[in-house]
Amino acid sequence: MFFNAHVYYAQRVDKNLDALKVAGCLLPDFASTSLIAWDDLHKKKGILDFFEYVNKSASQFSSLLKGINYHNTLDYSSHLKYKNSITGYSYASITPELFNLVKKSLHVEDARARASSHNLIESGVDYHLLHDHPELADLIKDSLKEINMQELAKVMSAFYKKDEQETFTGLKYFFFFATDYDLKDFDDWVRLFIDLNKFYLKVNADEKLTRQALELAFNITKNTYKEYLETSIASKNTEIKDCN
Ligand SMILES: [Zn+2]
Repeated sequence: MFFNAHVYYAQRVDKNLDALKVAGCLLPDFASTSLIAWDDLHKKKGILDFFEYVNKSASQFSSLLKGINYHNTLDYSSHLKYKNSITGYSYASITPELFNLVKKSLHVEDARARASSHNLIESGVDYHLLHDHPELADLIKDSLKEINMQELAKVMSAFYKKDEQETFTGLKYFFFFATDYDLKDFDDWVRLFIDLNKFYLKVNADEKLTRQALELAFNITKNTYKEYLETSIASKNTEIKDCN
């Protein structure tokens, strides 16, 4: 999850960015709430099914789909294919040291530790990017304020067959995590990760180790995040793909 990077990508490729596109840039990671599955908006079929539904039954939200497309494009280079590596940028950037720190801080099995390590790498991209472009945080905040959440919850709960109120509350929490931390500030990243792990994974992360892991991830990404973003923007590889 790197909300600012997703929105930055959208801003760079789309001259007519609007609030719904910005929200769409974040929405696939709504899976972190478990109200939808990771495959729902990260696999081609799930995405295209949702697109068809929205275009047919809730066309006022069509712009949202563009944002989901942008999310998918950047996830592809982060998760699956980046330059010559056999995985995406964020997985290829995980070092054994980072992996071990994450495993120790969360007390989880290898697959979970690997997934969390990729999140830390993506967070490093976001942190450095925000220092270059602090205006991204306000763009996200202002855009989300414009969205009719109750109506979005209605559309999503109808499509995913979930309770509407539960979906609404889930969206509120999810967007709260995306906007309520000052992600230019290192300490807020530590707070965010501890809160996220507690809230979604029900894991109490060790604060000192979380801090060390974030420091390491931010160091690893410091000299490569720009090239990663520019390469992804330049690829124009915008066809919807499986990204999970
Ligand atoms: Zn994603």
